[in-house]
This record gives sequence, C-alpha cells and structure tokens, in this order.
Amino acid sequence: MTDLSLTGTDDPGTPERLRVELGDRAYDIVVGDGLIAGAAGFFGAVLTGRRVAVVSDETVAGHHLAALAASLDGAGISHHDIILPPGEGTKSFAHLERLLDALLEARIERGDMVVALGGGVIGDLAGFAASVLRRGVGVIQVPTSLLAQVDSAVGGKTGIDTRFGKNLVGSFHQPSLVLADTGALATLARRELLAGYAEVVKYGLLGDAEFFDWLEAHGPAVRDGDPDARRRAVVTSCAAKARVVASDERDTGERALLNLGHTFGHAIEAEAGFDGRVVHGEAVAVGMVLAFALSARLGHCSGDDCARVRRHLGAMGLPVTIAEALGANAAPDVTADVLIGHMAQDKKMQDGKVTFVLARAIGNAFLSRDVPADALHAVITDSLAG
Ligand code: NAD
Repeated sequence: MTDLSLTGTDDPGTPERLRVELGDRAYDIVVGDGLIAGAAGFFGAVLTGRRVAVVSDETVAGHHLAALAASLDGAGISHHDIILPPGEGTKSFAHLERLLDALLEARIERGDMVVALGGGVIGDLAGFAASVLRRGVGVIQVPTSLLAQVDSAVGGKTGIDTRFGKNLVGSFHQPSLVLADTGALATLARRELLAGYAEVVKYGLLGDAEFFDWLEAHGPAVRDGDPDARRRAVVTSCAAKARVVASDERDTGERALLNLGHTFGHAIEAEAGFDGRVVHGEAVAVGMVLAFALSARLGHCSGDDCARVRRHLGAMGLPVTIAEALGANAAPDVTADVLIGHMAQDKKMQDGKVTFVLARAIGNAFLSRDVPADALHAVITDSLAG
C-alpha cells in the first residue's frame, strides 16, 4: 500500500482537528470523511442556543442537505433551511438582501448560528450575512467544494461581488467552526474539483516543497477520489492556511503570499469575462506557471522548478498556458498589454504598483513590487502563444 502520510495521524476513520490560533476568535477545523452525517455532534461545542439557519445552494442541498438535516433533527437542533441558486451570481446585493430577509423572518438571533453548507459562493455570502445580521451572528462553515475546504472556508474573509468587481464589499468574520467533509467531494464536478486542486498545489509551491513532492506522487489519487489522499491534501492545505491566517489575519503582510498565481489569474479571468468560461482555479493554475516562469526569467529560481510546476499541473488536467485557458474563447486581439492592463485593475494594487508573488524555488515564495515590465511582457507573450 502507498504511504500517504505527511503529517498528523493516519487513521482514515478518525477526523483530524486543526486549530486556527486567533486568541478569542480561535476555532477548529475538523476534516474527515462522512462528517456531515454526524454534524450535530461537532456543532454542539460551539452552539449556545438550539437553533441554526442552514444556507445552501440548490445543487449542494440536493446532495447533502438531507444528511445534515437528519443529524440536526436527531440532536434536537431546530433548523431553518434557506436555499439559493448556485453560481457566482448569487454573491450579489440582491441575494444578500434576500438572505438577510429570510434570516430575519426565521428570527435568527445573536445566540443562534448561521451554517453555510456549500462552496465558496455560499460560504462568502452566508458569512457576510452573518457578520451584519443584528451586528454579528456566528457562522459555521461546512464547505463542500475542494476550493472551499482548502481555502475560502478558512480565514474569515466574507463578501459579495459588485458591478465594480469581485469581493469588493465584505468583512472579516471568522467562523466558529469549519467542518470539512471530504466525502462530500464525491458529488463535485471534475472541473470544479480540479479548480480546487490548483489551490492545493499553491500551498506546496509557496511554502512546502515536501508537500509538492507528495502531490506529484499522489495528485492523481486526490483527483480520482482516494479518500485518504483527499483527506491528507485537505488537512495539509488547511494547516498551511491556518498558519498564515494566524500570523496575518487582516491581510497586511504574509497573507499576500496566498495570492501566488492570482494576479496573472485575475487578468485571465477578467479577459474571459468572469462568466465561468474560465474557472478561477484554472486561471490560478496558469498564473502559478507564469509566476514561476517570471521568477526563472528574473534569475530567482531555476528553469527546472518552473518546468516541474508546469508538468504537474498539466498532468493533472489543468491548463498551463493562457492560450489553453482561453481556448477558442480568446479574443483575436488579446495581447500582453491587454492582460497587463487587467492586472492594473486588480484590487491588490497599492500606490499604482502591482505586487507579484515570485519564487526562489518550489516551496519558497516571496513578494515583489519591482517586476521589470519587459520580463512581464515576455512571459505573457510566450504563454499567449501556447
Ligand atoms: P461555488 O460555491 O460556486 O461552487 C462551485 C460549484 O460546485 C457550484 O455550482 C456548487 O453548486 C457546486 N458544488 C459545491 N459543492 C458541491 C458538491 N459537494 N457536490 C456537487 N456540487 C457542488 O464556487 P467555489 O469554487 O467553491 O468558490 C468560489 C468562490 O469562493 C468565489 O466567489 C471566490 O471569490 C470565493 N473565494 C473566497 C475566498 C475567501 O477567502 N473567502 C478564497 C477563495 C475563493
């Protein structure tokens, strides 16, 4: 049998518990297979009342709400279920209002809890609604997409999109608990799973070379549904995110490293139109290859490391060039200048300068605000050519 161990216990039956160390806002992340069916047992420790509002989307609710509801019913926890349409469009003012009205109608009060059952869209929206409802109600995140389990459910960033851009209105509102049921990933579409996998790879690339080695060997097992491999990937990713969040909760320093690949990714998504033609994780995959290509061109890291990043993401089925990500949808006139123009719109800009996450090696990322324009232009032009 293959050894999947990397950190922690390796008994697949025992959920793993991590702690996000944030003083009086500290909370646990519990990772395991089949946790939703026993959710009430985990909720007990953080519930003060006996009432929750479960917020989900139609797709996730169809697969996983019955198991959650049965667990809550069995424990005598009353729940009011609010089901919204799936998709990024739900992270809007209109749906925020609809959700807040439903929560008020259900008389959800300070001692009650909002439970976000879904991907990053539901987690961000329900987390934001909880943060403003009656000036702050607790939220439990039950992430069901790989992206949400390894990234968005941990760290307390919540929010909605506006016509000026994504995630521009929101708050920091740490959850009281994160319950990541890796078994729920069985119903996730393969494209969404791969998009989340790009964020898993990100943790290896930015700070954990050993994890990247492990992913090179076990990535296909993660992708294809091996429960132990999925649990290990989620636990290691959550531990990495928890460490960064604990040291920089409000995103004023180290947390920016989590944007590895995202500045390029944002430009690709902006070009594609944020309408799902290019999924966020696909754009991030290309962005990470570009970050390593730029690092290699500037002499920070070896060409071999860049080739390894590209080889692994490509072997997993993710796009590795801009041409591949945009595919047939690429506008004939898209150029490096157009994409660099999109970067300048990124909310991560500061004083008119884009901050790039570059790398000295796999597992050793750093921030740079002094990227020469010609090198940036060259790596984008290469990637546009495929
Ligand atoms: P999503 O919530 O739209 O989920 C993707 C799709 O998968 C949806 O159609 C959803 O219905 C479906 N789905 C989710 N879980 C499923 C399951 N178990 N079975 C079947 N279908 C399932 O998108 P996402 O990729 O999870 O999250 C993207 C969002 O997360 C974006 O809005 C992004 O801005 C946000 N995000 C937030 C943070 C943060 O720190 N808060 C970090 C990264 C991303």
